[in-house]
Amino acid sequence: STATASDMKPRILIMGLRRSGKSSIQKVVFHKMSPNETLFLEITSKIFKDDVSNTSFINFQIWDIPGQIDFLDSTFDLDMIFGGTGALIFVVDAQDDYMEALTCLHQAVSKAFRINPQIRFEIFIHKVDGLSDDHKIETQRDISQRANEELHEASLIDLHLSFHLTSIYDHSIFEAFSKVVQKLIPQHSTLENLLSSFVQNSGIEKTFLFDVVSKIYIATDGSPVDMQSYELCCEMIDVMLDMTCIYGDDAEDATTQDSTCIIRLNNSNILYLREVTRFLVVVCIVRDDAFTKRGIIDYNILLLKKAIHEVFDVRPRHGKQNGHLHPE
Ligand code: GDP
Repeated sequence: STATASDMKPRILIMGLRRSGKSSIQKVVFHKMSPNETLFLEITSKIFKDDVSNTSFINFQIWDIPGQIDFLDSTFDLDMIFGGTGALIFVVDAQDDYMEALTCLHQAVSKAFRINPQIRFEIFIHKVDGLSDDHKIETQRDISQRANEELHEASLIDLHLSFHLTSIYDHSIFEAFSKVVQKLIPQHSTLENLLSSFVQNSGIEKTFLFDVVSKIYIATDGSPVDMQSYELCCEMIDVMLDMTCIYGDDAEDATTQDSTCIIRLNNSNILYLREVTRFLVVVCIVRDDAFTKRGIIDYNILLLKKAIHEVFDVRPRHGKQNGHLHPE
């Protein structure tokens, strides 16, 4: 098979049984579909590539493969499919009987691992919005135990298997995707160090580096992430994207104009967003007394931007032709 430029990109593969939620996940995370609209998605019946690199920092392709693949069918070029894949996300519907899914998972993992031992396996225990907290934990324990036992019996050891509880009805799907993506970014620990020193030098509580369109955070400072902070930052990005839609290109000056957004919360915290590159923004949570020294924060953001540009080797944009935050 002939390799094209886009085939050379690192890939995330999404697999799972039919109706497990694969297309919904992809539409909600990468195409801003609202969870309720996924009820009307058409059934996928073949492998399809969804190249998100035009709207997202993340150059990954999502290959949606229906669950019931016959792995002996020679029409699937498995070397090609698994060979260039960084992570295989396997979606298990937690609201359904998952025995068949586990069989399929086992087949896919064994096949993929033999072709590409570097591949990371990310199991999304999905649709957990219908489950109580106890039930969630019990389901994760049961699924991970069964999956690991079977793989161990098949002498498949040393593979990277991770489990995530996910739902498209809350932020858990974005959190899980963030963790998957972070493992595939070679510069991730450099970014984390940069953000940690940025936070320390600026008197900031917490900061995230976001891929705007997907709301995947590709790095944060070293302090622990609490879901609430992450959700707040996601909501801020939604607000900002709506504003960008309203004001669009006409409101934007032709000279370099960086997107900035400030939201004051009622608990004496401030959310402060600044554009870093075409697709990336940094969102900070700052106490309002620290925000009085905004000059220092802004100066440090300037340094941070330069450092991030160097890490990814992207040149700062000039004027409009390089686009701005909103994909259109
Ligand atoms: P696919 O065949 O694997 O691509 O599955 P779909 O994306 O078409 O999803 C099948 C059904 O599951 C749809 O009716 C979705 O609305 C529903 N669904 C997807 N994700 C979730 C979720 O997180 N929670 C719930 N409750 N339903 C979901």
